Amino acid sequence: QDPDVQQKCGFYDNGLTEKLKKELELSELFESSLKNHDFQVYLQPKTELKSGKAAGAEALVRWLHPERGMILPGDFIPLFEKNGKICELDLYVFKEVCKLLKRWIHEGRKLLPVSVNLSRQHFRTAETLKRFYDIAKEYGIPQGIIEFELTESIFFDNKQIKIVQESIRKMHQYGFLCSLDDFGSGFSSLGLLKEFDVDTIKLDRSFFINTSGTKAKEVIRCLIELAQSLDVQTVAEGIEKPEQLDYLRAVGCDMVQGYIYSRPLPIPEFEEFIEKM
Ligand code: C2E
Ligand code: CA
Ligand code: CA
Ligand code: CA
Repeated sequence: QDPDVQQKCGFYDNGLTEKLKKELELSELFESSLKNHDFQVYLQPKTELKSGKAAGAEALVRWLHPERGMILPGDFIPLFEKNGKICELDLYVFKEVCKLLKRWIHEGRKLLPVSVNLSRQHFRTAETLKRFYDIAKEYGIPQGIIEFELTESIFFDNKQIKIVQESIRKMHQYGFLCSLDDFGSGFSSLGLLKEFDVDTIKLDRSFFINTSGTKAKEVIRCLIELAQSLDVQTVAEGIEKPEQLDYLRAVGCDMVQGYIYSRPLPIPEFEEFIEKM
């Protein structure tokens, strides 16, 4: 065999094995990390544009491994979606959020709505929601304070449409809110608005990466107007620059989530941030 080809194949194989090895390692670490509370909930504030006040927060998971340091969701969420562990992790995050809200109630703090991301894996049946409801009830969480973020991609699987519609109906019945995440990141996003009864849309970060052109600005303006006429709240994601804020304010976007206000913060730092606002 051509040694050059052999070398290339060898290199490719090594790369693949490395990736599999890493995935296997992370999979094996999952259970013990869950038990040791190595997964932590960070909160990123959502700011109401009109008042400049914090209007809520999104729970974003972080894996704080004692030896490897912080591992970001991008490095393990796709893997856990594949091997099914994501449902357990989402449930853990949800419980941590319930615990936090319970403490806020206990301490007499102002309650902020907190949103939790739900993987598409939960929507194999509409029964999953009952589990979340039981837990929220156990913690004494009031209605309308927890929101689920469903990423746009789950709405494109024909097999899942009915289940997702039924799940959203149950969410509302159980007193949860529902948000359509990464809105506009795929195609036919508009159609989703008429099929699914969501409370909020989160305009995907990709909309705001290049907003200098008039076309991009017009698209954002029209989407916000459409949402308003459907009585759906709007959140602009990934906002980093003041000029983006000016424009969003001018076109009546409700909320902003992005580094311009704050990165996702550990809970104690988030509480400090809120107190200083
Ligand atoms: P997402 O739900 O779209 O969350 C927003 C992501 O954008 C977060 O990344 C956040 O840190 C980042 N971000 C916020 N503001 C800015 C900004 O101004 N500029 C830039 N460049 N980025 C910004 P993160 O925390 O790394 O999470 C990545 C994704 O992982 C999330 O995207 C979500 O899809 C997933 N994820 C995170 N936590 C969970 C979880 O508990 N369960 C599930 N199923 N997925 C999760
Ligand atoms: Ca989200
Ligand atoms: Ca998003
Ligand atoms: Ca409404």
